[in-house]
Amino acid sequence: PFDVLVVGGGPAGASAAIYAARKGIRTGVVAERFGGQMMDTMSIENFISVKETQGPRLAASLEEHVKQYNVDIMNEQRVSNIVEAANTDDGYAHIYLESGAMLKSRSVIISTGARWREMNVPGEQEYRNKGVAYCPHCDGPLFKGKRTAVIGGGNSGIEAAIDLAGIVEHVTVLEFADTLRADQVLINKAESLPNIDIITMAQTTEVVGDGTRVTGISYKDRNTDEIKHIELAGIFVQIGLVPNTEWLKESAVTLTPRGEIEIGAHGNTNVNGIFAAGDVTTVPFKQIIIAMGEGAKASLGAFDYLIRTPAP
Ligand code: FAD
Repeated sequence: PFDVLVVGGGPAGASAAIYAARKGIRTGVVAERFGGQMMDTMSIENFISVKETQGPRLAASLEEHVKQYNVDIMNEQRVSNIVEAANTDDGYAHIYLESGAMLKSRSVIISTGARWREMNVPGEQEYRNKGVAYCPHCDGPLFKGKRTAVIGGGNSGIEAAIDLAGIVEHVTVLEFADTLRADQVLINKAESLPNIDIITMAQTTEVVGDGTRVTGISYKDRNTDEIKHIELAGIFVQIGLVPNTEWLKESAVTLTPRGEIEIGAHGNTNVNGIFAAGDVTTVPFKQIIIAMGEGAKASLGAFDYLIRTPAP
């Protein structure tokens, strides 16, 4: 059995594994796809101390760093359920894989991340990272002086519009419903900015490009059913970040109504011996550098738990 089993191999999980392994305890990582969201990221310019890198490159150096240590990496394995130590016959947490295997561990760090909800319209996949973006903190500066759209008029959409308005030439917010769902204070701020336009009752229908980059977006005006087109260079999709916690619905781990794992100051969940880190949790602001810090914290939290808890 493991002392620490990390579920998820993104920046949070890799960081947790390194911190655990450095304590000389038996450490494993199970990941569906090592590298996580970084594998879908082109340019990264806000990973402090590295001026510019690419996601897959950063993921490769993370993997190399993890492999410096005696960590059992189980890649391309999906976890389907977890039973906490208090409810097993042998005092270990049981972690079930979709392959049918079962792993045992004294403590578990869940870092299964999240995924951006997509528009599912033609052109979105083709122009992902070529004008279609999901993270204004990450990619906003790439559209300096250009025209952009934000899809979604909830808090994250309006925050993104206000953020982008300071960098880009112009922002059009497209909201499907007839009203914005963001807090009034954010709406007031957005409405006060001269380079933000807000269009409601707008259903995005297509991302348009020239084969290499985004050149515009088409949407249906739901009042008139008319198809309209806006010329622009960037589209920020802000219709929700979904935590990868579907597999925890049957477990004892407490999730918020949005499906995020609730964590305490040590990365602890409500269940003894189960910790969590990164985008899958309630931590505010989902970023690589934050996920790594959170992974380190949860790992130290797990170690602290292990030295205070007798082995089964
Ligand atoms: P993730 O990276 O989501 O990793 C989750 C891990 O868990 C993966 O290994 C996954 O395969 C695994 N997993 C999920 N479910 C299971 C399961 N059931 N069983 C086993 N394994 C599972 N942040 C920045 O700081 N700078 C940027 O420039 C930047 N650009 C971005 C661009 C894009 C397109 C995207 C999508 C995100 C970007 N981000 C950026 C955000 C950043 O990638 C995330 O905040 C970060 O990756 C979160 O790390 P994590 O380890 O918590 O989760």
